[in-house]
Amino acid sequence: MDKIKIMEASVAKWQRIIDGKSTDGGVLDCPPCRIFYVLICFGCPIADYTGKKFCKGSPYGAWYWHQIEAHGYMRKKIYCPECLHLATDMRDFMIEIVEHLKKKDAEEDKKNRREASPPKA
Ligand SMILES: [Zn+2]
Repeated sequence: MDKIKIMEASVAKWQRIIDGKSTDGGVLDCPPCRIFYVLICFGCPIADYTGKKFCKGSPYGAWYWHQIEAHGYMRKKIYCPECLHLATDMRDFMIEIVEHLKKKDAEEDKKNRREASPPKA
């Protein structure tokens, strides 16, 4: 599965939350978690990017604790301006990872093309 597509799905998820059209179901509706989490959180593009598992080092922790501390154990969605701010941070972080992956892909493409082209006579 294409990691860029997975992360783009994650950007879309956070955009829907920001727009008030959706809630955050954590692991259950996180596109990369659904593929990589499986209790060990292995190979997820977010973990690759932060160097930490379980979304540590991402803005998710701030969102998660704000939801619990300010809004209790209800559905995680936008309730107040702080929610909006934290969800926006999360969406922007997902965009940052998409851009990072695209850059990495482009660099690998360039390298492969160089290696594939015949040596100049
Ligand atoms: Zn809030």
